[in-house]
Amino acid sequence: MVSIEEILKLMKETPDEKDRELLVKAYHFAEKAHKNQKRFSGEPYFLHLTETAKILAELGKGPMTIVAGLLHDAIEDAEVSPETIEKEFGKEIRFLVEGVTKLGKLRYRGVERYVESLRKLFVAMSQDLRVLIIKLADRLHNMRTLQYVRKEKQKRIALETLEIYAPLAYRLGIRKLNRELEDLAFPYVYPKEYAKINDILKKKHRETITHLEKLRKSIVKGLTKFGIKEIHTDYRVKGLYSLYQKMIRKNWDIDMIYDILAIRIIVPGLEDCYRVLGAIHSIWRPLPGRIKDYIAFPKPNGYRSLHTTIFTGDGSIMEIQIRSEEMHKEAEYGVVSHFGYKEKIDLKTITNSSMTWIKQFLPLLSFGEQLQKEKSTVINGDVPAWLRELAKIESGQSQHEDFIKEIKADFFKTRVFVFTPKGDVVDLPSNACPIDFAYAIHSDIGDHMSGAKVNGKMVTLNTILKNGDIVEIIVKEKAKPSTKWLDMAKTTIAKKHIRAFLGKK
Ligand code: MN
Repeated sequence: MVSIEEILKLMKETPDEKDRELLVKAYHFAEKAHKNQKRFSGEPYFLHLTETAKILAELGKGPMTIVAGLLHDAIEDAEVSPETIEKEFGKEIRFLVEGVTKLGKLRYRGVERYVESLRKLFVAMSQDLRVLIIKLADRLHNMRTLQYVRKEKQKRIALETLEIYAPLAYRLGIRKLNRELEDLAFPYVYPKEYAKINDILKKKHRETITHLEKLRKSIVKGLTKFGIKEIHTDYRVKGLYSLYQKMIRKNWDIDMIYDILAIRIIVPGLEDCYRVLGAIHSIWRPLPGRIKDYIAFPKPNGYRSLHTTIFTGDGSIMEIQIRSEEMHKEAEYGVVSHFGYKEKIDLKTITNSSMTWIKQFLPLLSFGEQLQKEKSTVINGDVPAWLRELAKIESGQSQHEDFIKEIKADFFKTRVFVFTPKGDVVDLPSNACPIDFAYAIHSDIGDHMSGAKVNGKMVTLNTILKNGDIVEIIVKEKAKPSTKWLDMAKTTIAKKHIRAFLGKK
């Protein structure tokens, strides 16, 4: 069992007295709330909560997130009321715990086309990055203990992890979480392929590791000659699942994959990266076409590093990754590394070039386009504040620290995300009803709607849709819009079509 002292010690910054008390209180509260419950492993349920809190502390998360991590199953599994949580721990903790509880209700059904929709819905429903990160920590511990779960459930949970959670961790730039989630899920989802990769890797590993250590030493020596002394080196082994995916792309030719093992060189600053690259290329011959400057051109999730692959001189080939301390931290912890103690993202630490992850994370731009389309006919239709802020921040003018929090609050308050029966996500203004949904799909469907089902039950056409609802429209050839629909519809597009139809007669 992880003790509260251990969690406190793992925290990036020592909490002040008030936060410390809250953490201790949450620890004992969770212990009591889950007292008689057991995990499938036979261990006390409480263990799961301390492990989740530990993962969050290791990720450098602040006190509120860790408190919510300790309490994340209290509502769902220990029947503690949200009101009690608010009374004992305040509004913010209640918001976070309820957020995690809601996310837990979403299920991935293993149908390919649902995947992107569900990822989007996940992000949309989180409303706060911290909710998503708690959910990821929760899932990581569940994956670490998946062997105790019933066989039939194992595969579903592992598949969901591979398709939803691991990619979300990747998009948030938290490589550490992404890698572990993938490698834990891999053997359950693709057992045969896993065995094959494991085999290949074992053989390859033995022959490479000796080269690697030799090369690492000569790199340190070589760089010293160039006056570059302030470096850390280590190496990383490619994740099994990520290797599997690359093997598919390279037609299972292991000799086409040069980055199973890579040497990492970590230097103090940005300029040092290029100096090290120069030095290395003057000692060893680089493989053409394998020099990648992810500093000048970061990956969409914000990853920055220099990659090169060199002929080591003894017949082997090795990938070298060069990055600064800051880039390294960002590569492992992603967006999490930008959270300050107060658990707000410090925008000043996010450079413009790595801002791209925001667009990835919240598909803001595509939403933005839709909002802008709406706006042309909506009364009061200013450009939404968050969109203006986004434009400003991209041109480097915004200094607003609460920017992300605000745009999200603003945005999610006004939108609702629902599914078609096929699993596509339709986003609508909040208060939208099935009529809006029907016209958002196609004007013909709206014009011939005779009824609607929400989550499998017949509903009236003015029913307000909620996040995550599955909406099915029943169409009859003779059905047609009525004037009443004009009052029920919320979107301009629906109103426009209804008017057009009524005017036609
Ligand atoms: Mn849990």
